[in-house]
Amino acid sequence: VTALALIDGNSFYCSCERVFDAKLEKRPVIVLSNNDGCAVARTSEAKALGIKMGQPMFQIRDLCRENKVAVFSSNYALYGDMSRRMNTIYDTFSPDNEIYSIDETFLDVAPVPKGQRTEWAGDLRATTRQWTGIPCSVGIGPTKTLAKLANKASKHLPGGVLDLSDPREQARVMADFPIGDVWGIGRASQAKLLALGIRFAGQVRDMDSKLARQMMTVVGEKIVHELNGIPCIALETVAPQRKGCAVTRSFGSRVTMKVEMEQAVAGYATRLGEKLRRHNLATDQVTVFMHTSRFNDDEPQRSVSMTVDIPEATNDSLQLIKAGRRAVDNLWLSGFRYSKAGIITQDLVRPPIPQRALFDNLDHERAAAVMAAMDEANRRWGRATVVPAATMGGPKKSQSFSTKFEMRSPRFTTRWDELPECR
Ligand SMILES: [Mg+2]
Repeated sequence: VTALALIDGNSFYCSCERVFDAKLEKRPVIVLSNNDGCAVARTSEAKALGIKMGQPMFQIRDLCRENKVAVFSSNYALYGDMSRRMNTIYDTFSPDNEIYSIDETFLDVAPVPKGQRTEWAGDLRATTRQWTGIPCSVGIGPTKTLAKLANKASKHLPGGVLDLSDPREQARVMADFPIGDVWGIGRASQAKLLALGIRFAGQVRDMDSKLARQMMTVVGEKIVHELNGIPCIALETVAPQRKGCAVTRSFGSRVTMKVEMEQAVAGYATRLGEKLRRHNLATDQVTVFMHTSRFNDDEPQRSVSMTVDIPEATNDSLQLIKAGRRAVDNLWLSGFRYSKAGIITQDLVRPPIPQRALFDNLDHERAAAVMAAMDEANRRWGRATVVPAATMGGPKKSQSFSTKFEMRSPRFTTRWDELPECR
């Protein structure tokens, strides 16, 4: 029988900010999205003021001033590092975990005897709090959906832990658990269910699974089974091996010049390289395609593609750009208004270990170092901070290199020059 725990950081981004400033402990805190656009994390005090998830900053500026709300730009370097620290702790509690998001991890608790899970989870939570400063909640259940539900329900409990291993406990909690808070039930499904008088998780659990499938596709059917304690969504302790990878986009406005197409494809090749490096994969061929819009059938139509072989499997963006450019050179024909292009690759492999031989080796090492530096810069300062020159310009002129982070806290844990100071 499976048993899973979901541990989740409470108001995670805000909690990270509080760790480094004790004065924030009782103050309402919010964290803003990129460019300081809208609130993406709120403490319970901020929620109590009526600040909504995703609410634009300009709507709440006065409210924040009047109520001394601490407002932060997002500090992903800090949140990412805190997340890594927390997962290191989780690893000592259970070897089989799935990191689900920056602040949520599923842990396998089947090895923990049924009667001891609440205590185990309390220990997990207390250790995480003590070692990182982040308050968490833990939900336990036989399926991911029930663990999620338990986690949500545990937020209201003083101990921050809820074990729904027992079917009677499941039934008690599901009886008045709103469907909108069930994992996987979106707004559209919610409206359909409400129309049938289904308001609580317990009623979804009792639905005919075929009906659930009709109303909410296969997702709905899985939800019904999962609420009944039958696992349908496996724990993914290892990210599944990717079979192929694609980066494709529709252009904001039609592309009619070759240089624009080259820049666009170079941009996709760069993105492809990033994806491959993140998964430690490589490829020895890429297919580039481009086509006009089928919806403008009064215009001349064209749809072409070409596969380019790369001598040795690589995930170096510059090599991928070179291959992409060769394809564009071969495929390009003026006189058409292209609406979409992309780069696709199949047969992904582990990157080859560079041969310790002769002249080639130095280039390999230098290229890898350049890519690593580029990835690190983009991770730290945001996507496209550093890009190959071949991608500059491009069909969309709106590329922004000046993301605003006016209220960002220091990167306390990842930068020597931003370490917290004690006096
Ligand atoms: Mg959270």
